[in-house]
Amino acid sequence: MTSPDCECGRLEDLAIVPMGHHDHVFRTLDIVQKRGMPWWWLYTAVCNACGQPWLVAQEERHNDLFILRRLDPATTELLARDGVWPSDFDRYETLLEIGRAAGHSVRFCDVADSPLLHTVADLAKERPGICVSELASLLNLDPTVAADLARQVESESVRITFDAG
Ligand SMILES: [Zn+2]
Repeated sequence: MTSPDCECGRLEDLAIVPMGHHDHVFRTLDIVQKRGMPWWWLYTAVCNACGQPWLVAQEERHNDLFILRRLDPATTELLARDGVWPSDFDRYETLLEIGRAAGHSVRFCDVADSPLLHTVADLAKERPGICVSELASLLNLDPTVAADLARQVESESVRITFDAG
């Protein structure tokens, strides 16, 4: 399955590729299928050099990472035949956890006017009642900043537990 013309053989099965350093990996990857809303970050791609399929998550709101999972033939066939997507990257929170575990973090100077508000709202919709302390940890924010953001996005449909700040 490896080819000298692509990076697939050098990538981990779960690979993290920072945006801006992704051209050499993505030059052979062709998008096959987008998951569609609400999973706007998710698609499958196949390498046009070696044929390796990948599940790709584009985490561009916070850490600016591509997160790739190597797909085995069974998973690939299940998706192609029955439309069953692997659930690895279904939750945006998972992408943030992977980025955090890999040591990526982004500091925003002006948090009030940033994608952070959308991210906080989406995390709270994925997991109603998520704690401010968890948001702060996932997003690598000061707890008081996280609490401030949470207050701005909290509503009937966006429930957040204020346990910090
Ligand atoms: Zn390849």
